[in-house]
Amino acid sequence: MKAAIFHGAHTPLSIEDVEIADPIGHEVRMRTVASGVCHSDLHFVDGFYPFPTPAILGHEAAGIVEAVGPHVTEFKPGDHVIACLSIFCGHCSYCLTGRTHLCNARPERDSQTPAKLTWKGAPVNQFVGLSAYAEQMLVHENGLVKVHDNMPLDRAALIGCGVTTGVGAVLNTARVEPGATVAVFGAGGVGLAAIQGARIAGAGMIIAVDVFAHKLAQAQELGATHAVDASKDDPVKAIRRLTGGGVEYAFEAIGLKKAAEQAFECIRPGGTATIIGMIPVGQKIELEGSTFLREKRIQGCTMGSNRFKIDMPKYVDFYQRGLLRLDEMISKRGRLGDVNEAFRAMKAGEVARTVLMFDA
Ligand SMILES: [Zn+2]
Ligand SMILES: [Zn+2]
Repeated sequence: MKAAIFHGAHTPLSIEDVEIADPIGHEVRMRTVASGVCHSDLHFVDGFYPFPTPAILGHEAAGIVEAVGPHVTEFKPGDHVIACLSIFCGHCSYCLTGRTHLCNARPERDSQTPAKLTWKGAPVNQFVGLSAYAEQMLVHENGLVKVHDNMPLDRAALIGCGVTTGVGAVLNTARVEPGATVAVFGAGGVGLAAIQGARIAGAGMIIAVDVFAHKLAQAQELGATHAVDASKDDPVKAIRRLTGGGVEYAFEAIGLKKAAEQAFECIRPGGTATIIGMIPVGQKIELEGSTFLREKRIQGCTMGSNRFKIDMPKYVDFYQRGLLRLDEMISKRGRLGDVNEAFRAMKAGEVARTVLMFDA
């Protein structure tokens, strides 16, 4: 099969012929139909996060089951599925307390078993149990969820990471309630999903913050009630002005130190800032210590605190009922070979999402 291989930071991915193993145990092999280019992959390509090479990145995909291992009971060939990197074991303390997204015993092939992916006879590292920049994927069944055949798989792919992360941050991590005031820093794929999550939650005021006018316009189309251009205005002052003292919930969806600090500064006493973005390893964020006396809170967020086997079919339903708008979030469709161009366009702020399509 063809796959895009990551050889190290600052090097373009290369399209190569890669071998994929047959499923064993609880594994499922799927044919990738659509694979979204998520910003998190770019963090590895840009060297902000390390990952051993060679590897196949990509973690936002939907496709069709081709073959299943002998212990798989939940899936059969022909099933339409979304993959999720929150692969869980089902028996660690996190899983047993309902926080499967934090599972710390993710099932993987042991070192005695042949590698799932090989290139020129040598193993290729699988990224977060998925490796979605490839024509086929070999995934543990606890990393897949079945969706209705009538759900378009390119839009389903977005639910695989960005949508689940953004919507879930609002509904699961922060639990925004109807009427609440919300600010979202960053109107890329995850930020737009958070804005939609806030709209679905019934938030009263949803303030989008970005430095690109076209992104703010899209944010307003998808549910933001107000927009703040951080290239012109101080977002903290603007948010305090709009809300009369600060929002109840702020979300950082870029992965920038400054935006994380501003997200905390712009909440009112008793408010909560949720950091969704991937802040580069080793970077510190600085907060005004005295404001903790006013019960201001800041918290992290992993993949929208998902229980994806429950959440993803719900988001499909939201899409089909017109609540969650995904058509508008796909800025571009491309082929596997367009992956490097998709990274460039994302970095330049040109696109919310490029989706790579694998149909013949
Ligand atoms: Zn992602
Ligand atoms: Zn677990």
